[in-house]
Amino acid sequence: MSDLFDLTGKTAIVTGASTGLGKGMTLGLAEAGADILLVDHVSSDETLKEVKALGRKAEQLIIDLTMKDAVQAVVSKALETFNKIDILINNAGIIRRTPAIEFSEKDWDDVMNLNSRVVFFLTQAAARDMMKRKYGKVINIASLLSFQGGIIVPSYSASKGAVMQITKALANEWAKFGINVNAIAPGYMATNNTKALREDPVRSKAILDRIPAERWGTPDDIKGAAVFLASRASDYITGHVLAVDGGWLAR
Ligand code: NAP
Repeated sequence: MSDLFDLTGKTAIVTGASTGLGKGMTLGLAEAGADILLVDHVSSDETLKEVKALGRKAEQLIIDLTMKDAVQAVVSKALETFNKIDILINNAGIIRRTPAIEFSEKDWDDVMNLNSRVVFFLTQAAARDMMKRKYGKVINIASLLSFQGGIIVPSYSASKGAVMQITKALANEWAKFGINVNAIAPGYMATNNTKALREDPVRSKAILDRIPAERWGTPDDIKGAAVFLASRASDYITGHVLAVDGGWLAR
């Protein structure tokens, strides 16, 4: 049974691997056997060390994914390092909180650019290698706000709605090439992304009161879903959005 989830010999790209959910999924893939290219804005030194300590090959690329030609640079680095791309986790994402009536064009464009445009074009660039080999596992990080509107985060909700639709659109086109495209929709997880919410006693209580599991999620909680969607265990699953939310959407 453990063979179903074994990633030995597989190579992965994880964006935003230095912290939060990206770090959790990077360590999950490494524990399952994968070698990994960690892509970050600033540095992923600590995660890099932890992956190597597990006996895996690992490299990092420090890059702003929104810069021109960044997606091609990521794919070139992965191919130079590992010769192939088996798994891509599109995790890097940002959020801006301002009431819709005051929302700026910059906050709209920055969020849409990283959270959905980069997701599409990085996946397109990686899929050129996957298609040649008729093998690939793409995992996009969506959100509960792929399904719901959220409060004072209009560009984030729009971008994560797009992530869900990109996932389905690519799954439709690429299943015949052996490429699975799925998404994980994390619930409310304790990371930098939700620091402001957790520090607001009113919002924090309202959120906790609605989570059936009665706690915030952690980067550890998302490991299993990532390994599942990266492994042979999910070969006949594509275009799916898997919520890891302590029951939030069931409420
Ligand atoms: P996080 O702690 O803020 O991590 C985001 C990661 O993205 C960081 O590693 C960051 O790198 C990287 N990043 C940001 N801008 C980048 C850029 N321009 N180029 C390259 N890398 C960049 O957030 P998180 O909570 O782990 O979120 C990870 C993903 O899960 C995001 O897509 C987020 O929307 C999604 N999500 C989170 C939650 C939650 O409750 N936390 C819920 C649903 C969905 P630096 O630190 O180096 O800037």
